[in-house]
Amino acid sequence: MSPPASAAGRAPGLSRAQRGNVLISGAGPAGLTLAYWLSRHGFCPTVVERAPAPRDGGQAVDIRGAAIGVASRAGILGALRQARTRTRGMTYVTATGKHLASMNAAFGVVDPADVEIVRGDLVDILHVAARSGAEYIFGDSVTGVAEVPGAVEVTFERAAPRTFDLVIGADGLHSKVRAVAFGPESQFARYLGMYLSVFTVPNDLGLDYWQLIHVAPGKSVTVTSARGNTEARAIFFFASPPLEYDHRDTGQQQELLETAFAGQGWQIPRLLAAMRDAPGFYFDSVSQVRMDNWSAGRVTLVGDAGYCPSPLSGQGTSLALVGAYVLAAELQNADGDHGAAFAGYQRRMRDFVARNQQIAIGNAKRFIPQTRRQIWLQNQTLKTLPYLPGKKLVLDLATKGVREAANAIALEQSPG
Ligand SMILES: Cc1cc2nc3c(=O)[nH]c(=O)nc-3n(C[C@H](O)[C@H](O)[C@H](O)COP(=O)(O)OP(=O)(O)OC[C@H]3O[C@@H](n4cnc5c(N)ncnc54)[C@H](O)[C@@H]3O)c2cc1C
Repeated sequence: MSPPASAAGRAPGLSRAQRGNVLISGAGPAGLTLAYWLSRHGFCPTVVERAPAPRDGGQAVDIRGAAIGVASRAGILGALRQARTRTRGMTYVTATGKHLASMNAAFGVVDPADVEIVRGDLVDILHVAARSGAEYIFGDSVTGVAEVPGAVEVTFERAAPRTFDLVIGADGLHSKVRAVAFGPESQFARYLGMYLSVFTVPNDLGLDYWQLIHVAPGKSVTVTSARGNTEARAIFFFASPPLEYDHRDTGQQQELLETAFAGQGWQIPRLLAAMRDAPGFYFDSVSQVRMDNWSAGRVTLVGDAGYCPSPLSGQGTSLALVGAYVLAAELQNADGDHGAAFAGYQRRMRDFVARNQQIAIGNAKRFIPQTRRQIWLQNQTLKTLPYLPGKKLVLDLATKGVREAANAIALEQSPG
């Protein structure tokens, strides 16, 4: 792993503090990538994260297209490849566990260069790379930002108020920075009609780099082996009208999941029984964030906070990595003119974001079949597709949109 803060990355004659003190809210993929690149460009980043440590949890996420270039330039691509899930394939099962159809993972691969990695492993690798180049405050959150001439005054839940040159919200779909600097979430979040929950369970189904998937009308549950088969992840999706709940109340979210899956077959009762003690519980709506402007004065947003494409796009992590890289590069090139940097960042990213968000809109329509007939049709397709002549062409066409969207931005070589 390359060292984060290299003297070579700094503008000649400028110290780190002169380049600017930047507060980053959120130590997820976006915030950590940004901390890494800002540090390399000679800025002085401080990362505040609400959780007591970088958050584990979540299912596998994909890094593809331009994001592979970002990881490669940060010197972490080898570590990411080493930690990739290596999932070999998947089997669809009925409510009684009968196997319906199996598919090999190579089937439907968008690009063999992609890296599929458990989100927590990605966060660990990014944190190691970005650790020494930034100050970290865990277990705290921004509560307010106020722009004053030449700076931003920031208040925290716990820490004393501080002043920064710039503030960047990398704090995800329910961004606090967005709420205090731009307005309530309801103005920007677009619900796509379903919820997602993920938690870690023992791999007691004996899955060997494999996934089992059960689909019922309006619902799906996947169990996938993770971390070299030492554990598994249970992944629940369910269609629903918007639900009222507290984003930070895990008990309430677990009750919602129990209600949504009450009376379902297969391994579902057993998985739900294990949920209460399961590590890394994650629950969220499947939503996008759509904003006309990601910046206001000295504050801007990166990753899900500004342009969450939703898990249905499979591109949230790649957008976060690329967005952080582009933002850091624009700040470096703008020589202290943050307005020009933020404008350049949005100009370069806007079309890339729009194309990747569009993937999810198409997927939302067919992601969870709503009726038994739709499920039956899907199963017939899954059973016959591997034997169809021309299946490669069908799959190439099916993945073409993602492949093109993932590469729809050019990254200039970072001078840092
Ligand atoms: C625990 C977890 C599990 C996830 N699991 C999945 C998954 O299974 N599938 C999927 O498609 N996507 C998942 N996501 C979302 C996915 O990681 C993102 O879409 C994508 O990687 C973009 O990353 P991001 O850094 O912009 O946002 P995120 O990954 O959401 O990271 C945001 C970070 O900000 C922190 N944060 C939030 N509020 C505050 C605050 N007020 N102050 C300080 N810090 C704050 C969060 O704790 C988190 O560390 C998950 C996110 C989290 C946090």
